[in-house]
Amino acid sequence: MPGGYARKRMHDGHTRLRRRLRLRRKTKDLDQIDHDLKNKSDHLLNQDVDLDQPGFAQNYCLHCAKYFINERALSDHFKTKVHKRRLKALQDEPYTEKEADLAAGKGSYIGTPAKRKMETQPSKEEYSEGKRVKVVNYTPEELENMKKKKRKSMNSSNQLETNKMQE
Ligand SMILES: [Zn+2]
Repeated sequence: MPGGYARKRMHDGHTRLRRRLRLRRKTKDLDQIDHDLKNKSDHLLNQDVDLDQPGFAQNYCLHCAKYFINERALSDHFKTKVHKRRLKALQDEPYTEKEADLAAGKGSYIGTPAKRKMETQPSKEEYSEGKRVKVVNYTPEELENMKKKKRKSMNSSNQLETNKMQE
């Protein structure tokens, strides 16, 4: 069980309260977030004031599906590991239900999920300058170049290690 909160007696029997707490903790799944990025980014970056949400729903991270109290907190969040890890996870297109069906033998689905370029959503300023959320796949050439670069940097760090050992 995730979370691992000790059960507190005071909530026993308070089913409605417990249900509300559970719902609040639940975050969106990656495929939902993927859908948001593709289809609902403008709406989600321009939400109506909602007094129930942190920062009145005016500082939302699309990739993590999380509200922040102010612009500063949001931009600090963009620099965190949690956010960067999430961007990385979103590079691989999540399985849709249809694809999962196909993979389960209800059809022939061949191929790997597309690799997408994932950039942090535009800041309010960038947004007002016209920058929008885009979900773009890497071209095969770009993927090939990335692989090459990775290999090169691995080789050069190996070289450094070897040099160090020889010293
Ligand atoms: Zn985030």
